[in-house]
Amino acid sequence: MAQGGAAAALAMSLIVRGEVEMDGACAVIDDKLCSGCKMCNDLCPYSAISFDDTLKVSSVNAALCKACGTCVAGCPSGAIRALHFSDEQVYARIEGILV
Ligand code: SF4
Ligand code: SF4
Repeated sequence: MAQGGAAAALAMSLIVRGEVEMDGACAVIDDKLCSGCKMCNDLCPYSAISFDDTLKVSSVNAALCKACGTCVAGCPSGAIRALHFSDEQVYARIEGILV
């Protein structure tokens, strides 16, 4: 009950503000590399990826993306990358923790 009330209060505070501040971490699709296979559309557990039938490419809805990385690993064309999660950035974080 308490957790439900807290979740509702958080949702209400976002609605009242009229804008949502997004975490910068999300997946992005390079439409020049996307082959239009639609594999990522089914892989995303948050239904954040849709397919544009006109352009024949997929795109990520940043508001829905939780940056889980599933689509990044699953794209056979290497067309998806996770912002702020390049190998260099992950190594830099690890180094920062170890220093
Ligand atoms: S899995 Fe990759 S190539 Fe296939 S639709 Fe998604 S982004 Fe495009
Ligand atoms: S990173 Fe995860 S949540 Fe975001 S679009 Fe890819 S599969 Fe969906």
